[in-house]
Amino acid sequence: MRRFSITTTQREEFADITAQVAQALAASGLCEGCVLVYSPHTTAGVTINEGADPDVKRDMLAHLAELAPRAGGRAGFRHAEGNSDAHIKTSLMGPSQLVPVSGGRLVLGTWQRIYLCEFDGPRQRTVLVQPLAAGEGV
Ligand code: ZN
Repeated sequence: MRRFSITTTQREEFADITAQVAQALAASGLCEGCVLVYSPHTTAGVTINEGADPDVKRDMLAHLAELAPRAGGRAGFRHAEGNSDAHIKTSLMGPSQLVPVSGGRLVLGTWQRIYLCEFDGPRQRTVLVQPLAAGEGV
Protein backbone atom coordinates (compact mmCIF):
# COMPACT_ATOMS: atom_id res chain seq x y z
CA MET A 1 0.00 0.00 0.00
CA ARG A 2 1.31 3.41 -0.94
CA ARG A 3 -0.12 6.76 0.01
CA PHE A 4 0.29 10.44 -0.66
CA SER A 5 -1.18 13.64 0.70
CA ILE A 6 -2.84 16.41 -1.20
CA THR A 7 -3.88 19.81 0.09
CA THR A 8 -7.04 21.11 -1.51
CA THR A 9 -7.69 24.83 -1.83
CA GLN A 10 -11.47 25.10 -2.29
CA ARG A 11 -14.55 23.76 -0.50
CA GLU A 12 -15.33 21.87 -3.69
CA GLU A 13 -12.83 20.98 -6.36
CA PHE A 14 -11.61 18.20 -8.59
CA ALA A 15 -7.89 17.92 -7.86
CA ASP A 16 -5.91 16.14 -10.58
CA ILE A 17 -3.93 13.37 -8.87
CA THR A 18 -2.91 11.45 -12.01
CA ALA A 19 0.79 12.31 -11.64
CA GLN A 20 0.87 11.28 -7.96
CA VAL A 21 -0.86 7.98 -8.76
CA ALA A 22 1.60 7.34 -11.62
CA GLN A 23 4.48 8.11 -9.24
CA ALA A 24 3.13 5.68 -6.64
CA LEU A 25 2.69 3.06 -9.35
CA ALA A 26 6.28 3.53 -10.54
CA ALA A 27 7.58 3.21 -6.97
CA SER A 28 5.64 -0.03 -6.55
CA GLY A 29 7.32 -1.70 -9.52
CA LEU A 30 4.02 -3.21 -10.70
CA CYS A 31 4.12 -4.02 -14.41
CA GLU A 32 0.81 -5.76 -15.21
CA GLY A 33 -2.42 -5.60 -13.23
CA CYS A 34 -4.23 -2.60 -11.84
CA VAL A 35 -4.07 -0.04 -9.08
CA LEU A 36 -6.82 0.74 -6.63
CA VAL A 37 -6.93 4.48 -5.95
CA TYR A 38 -8.84 5.00 -2.72
CA SER A 39 -9.96 7.96 -0.62
CA PRO A 40 -10.31 7.09 3.09
CA HIS A 41 -12.59 10.10 3.64
CA THR A 42 -16.36 10.55 3.90
CA THR A 43 -16.41 13.92 2.17
CA ALA A 44 -13.89 13.34 -0.63
CA GLY A 45 -14.16 10.75 -3.38
CA VAL A 46 -12.23 9.63 -6.43
CA THR A 47 -13.34 9.75 -10.06
CA ILE A 48 -11.92 9.59 -13.56
CA ASN A 49 -13.04 12.11 -16.13
CA GLU A 50 -11.91 14.61 -18.74
CA GLY A 51 -8.84 16.69 -18.08
CA ALA A 52 -8.62 18.71 -21.28
CA ASP A 53 -11.48 21.17 -20.85
CA PRO A 54 -11.74 22.69 -17.34
CA ASP A 55 -15.41 23.43 -18.03
CA VAL A 56 -16.12 19.71 -17.56
CA LYS A 57 -15.03 19.94 -13.91
CA ARG A 58 -17.05 23.13 -13.52
CA ASP A 59 -20.15 21.53 -15.03
CA MET A 60 -19.85 18.42 -12.89
CA LEU A 61 -19.52 20.46 -9.68
CA ALA A 62 -22.42 22.71 -10.70
CA HIS A 63 -24.71 19.77 -11.40
CA LEU A 64 -23.68 17.90 -8.26
CA ALA A 65 -24.61 21.08 -6.37
CA GLU A 66 -28.07 20.92 -7.94
CA LEU A 67 -28.43 17.25 -6.99
CA ALA A 68 -27.33 17.88 -3.40
CA PRO A 69 -27.78 21.58 -2.53
CA ARG A 70 -25.66 22.75 0.41
CA ALA A 71 -28.74 24.22 2.09
CA GLY A 72 -30.52 20.87 1.97
CA GLY A 73 -33.26 21.47 -0.57
CA ARG A 74 -36.79 20.19 0.11
CA ALA A 75 -35.61 17.02 1.88
CA GLY A 76 -33.51 18.99 4.36
CA PHE A 77 -30.63 17.65 6.42
CA ARG A 78 -30.46 16.28 9.98
CA HIS A 79 -26.70 15.68 10.16
CA ALA A 80 -25.55 18.33 12.65
CA GLU A 81 -22.09 18.80 11.16
CA GLY A 82 -23.64 20.83 8.34
CA ASN A 83 -21.90 19.00 5.51
CA SER A 84 -24.48 16.46 4.39
CA ASP A 85 -24.22 17.69 0.82
CA ALA A 86 -20.53 16.74 0.89
CA HIS A 87 -21.35 13.24 2.16
CA ILE A 88 -23.93 12.75 -0.60
CA LYS A 89 -21.64 14.02 -3.37
CA THR A 90 -18.84 11.76 -2.10
CA SER A 91 -21.07 8.71 -2.33
CA LEU A 92 -22.20 9.75 -5.80
CA MET A 93 -18.57 9.85 -6.95
CA GLY A 94 -17.56 6.82 -4.89
CA PRO A 95 -14.48 6.32 -2.71
CA SER A 96 -12.24 4.64 -5.29
CA GLN A 97 -11.31 3.86 -8.86
CA LEU A 98 -9.62 0.77 -10.24
CA VAL A 99 -7.19 1.68 -13.02
CA PRO A 100 -5.64 -0.91 -15.34
CA VAL A 101 -1.85 -1.07 -15.55
CA SER A 102 0.08 -2.34 -18.57
CA GLY A 103 3.81 -2.13 -19.14
CA GLY A 104 4.13 -0.39 -15.78
CA ARG A 105 1.91 2.48 -16.90
CA LEU A 106 -1.62 3.58 -16.08
CA VAL A 107 -4.01 2.69 -18.88
CA LEU A 108 -5.99 5.89 -19.31
CA GLY A 109 -7.75 7.27 -22.35
CA THR A 110 -6.40 10.32 -24.10
CA TRP A 111 -8.64 12.71 -22.19
CA GLN A 112 -8.90 10.87 -18.90
CA ARG A 113 -7.44 12.14 -15.63
CA ILE A 114 -7.79 10.80 -12.10
CA TYR A 115 -9.35 13.25 -9.65
CA LEU A 116 -9.68 13.53 -5.93
CA CYS A 117 -13.14 15.04 -5.55
CA GLU A 118 -13.07 17.45 -2.65
CA PHE A 119 -16.49 18.36 -1.26
CA ASP A 120 -15.68 19.78 2.17
CA GLY A 121 -12.35 21.53 1.85
CA PRO A 122 -10.01 23.12 1.88
CA ARG A 123 -8.04 20.58 3.86
CA GLN A 124 -5.31 18.00 3.65
CA ARG A 125 -6.39 14.66 2.20
CA THR A 126 -4.76 11.27 1.99
CA VAL A 127 -4.99 9.08 -1.09
CA LEU A 128 -4.16 5.37 -0.88
CA VAL A 129 -2.77 3.50 -3.88
CA GLN A 130 -2.87 -0.28 -3.75
CA PRO A 131 -1.11 -2.08 -6.63
CA LEU A 132 -2.80 -5.36 -7.60
CA ALA A 133 -0.73 -7.75 -9.68
CA ALA A 134 -2.36 -9.64 -12.55
CA GLY A 135 -2.79 -13.36 -11.92
CA GLU A 136 -1.41 -16.27 -13.93
CA GLY A 137 -2.41 -16.17 -17.58
CA VAL A 138 -3.82 -12.65 -17.41
ZN1 ZN B 1 -20.42 15.22 8.27
